[in-house]
Amino acid sequence: MIIILKKGCSEADAAPILESIKEKGLEPLYMPGEEKIVLGAIGDERVLASLQLEAVDTVERIVPILKPHKLSNREFQNESSEIEVAGVVFGGKQVPVIAGPCSVESEEQIVTTARAVKKAGAVMLRGGAYKPRTSPYAFQGLEKEGLALLDLARKETGLPIVTEIISEHDIDHVGAVTDMFQIGARNMQNFRLLKAVGNTKIPVMLKRGPAASMAELLLAAEYILSKGNSKVVLCERGIKSFFGDTRNTFDLSIIPLLKKETHLPVIADPSHATGVRDLIMPMSRAAIAAGADGLVIEVHPEPSKALSDGFQQLTPDQFEDLMSAVDRVAHAVDREISAPQIAKK
Ligand code: PEP
Ligand code: MN
Repeated sequence: MIIILKKGCSEADAAPILESIKEKGLEPLYMPGEEKIVLGAIGDERVLASLQLEAVDTVERIVPILKPHKLSNREFQNESSEIEVAGVVFGGKQVPVIAGPCSVESEEQIVTTARAVKKAGAVMLRGGAYKPRTSPYAFQGLEKEGLALLDLARKETGLPIVTEIISEHDIDHVGAVTDMFQIGARNMQNFRLLKAVGNTKIPVMLKRGPAASMAELLLAAEYILSKGNSKVVLCERGIKSFFGDTRNTFDLSIIPLLKKETHLPVIADPSHATGVRDLIMPMSRAAIAAGADGLVIEVHPEPSKALSDGFQQLTPDQFEDLMSAVDRVAHAVDREISAPQIAKK
């Protein structure tokens, strides 16, 4: 069950309630939010019913939640969450587009890309400094040097950054640079990493694992939320299905399904979901039509020379075309692409 304390309550007000939860042998959760403190009590339903916290005068509301994913659930919060990342808002009427290379490769590559995607209307820059590669012999990323280059690209363009974190040991130095952590598909169930980002205040883009069900994705998000970090944006990036003509199978239907189940924003990554350059524009349009709250698109100044995922990266010109195409679809579904300026072609 979720216990929402009245506005203005402090940690000291929460302490006796947490104590009574513990005394009953239940697991207490302490989740201080920006406005209110939220507490959780997890355990046997009958013991939960015996808590009788309704009469406690610091308690505003008690929400019994039967679903395993509690904090991300619309039963807990019906209103859609708007998650702000350095001025960019996910989950509102506006649809932000994040763009940039798969990996940060050099100063010239990241700064050129950042300038180009900004010009086309992207509002955030992506780029991996730590790369979780299937093969140990593949390019593993520039690591700390890559982070410094992302920082430089942000200074040059003003675009906030999202970059992947692959280990809880990297929290401090990745967190010192990035505006948003990316937890990649392969790490969706790295529970130590989820808890570690949950202990920060830095927003998190959580990608769906290639074989994860909706419940597993939401429970992964729950690890972050239950540590007190409420800034989680979910990302559909394709799942494994039959081997075929695309890199993954873009599960478009999970977008409206997630939106029904959770108040968290849901964005889409058609680059990894399809792995086919020519499919990225049509599937970006489809994602927006299906209700996605944002897009992540891989863009490289010279995709044929990219050190990772070259086959699916768009050139800056192709990205510009994509931006005007998705803008038209966004208007059709009563949304807007959040962009300082969108090049009309
Ligand atoms: C990436 O964004 O470059 C990436 C590795 O994505 P995913 O975790 O979805 O494979
Ligand atoms: Mn990639």
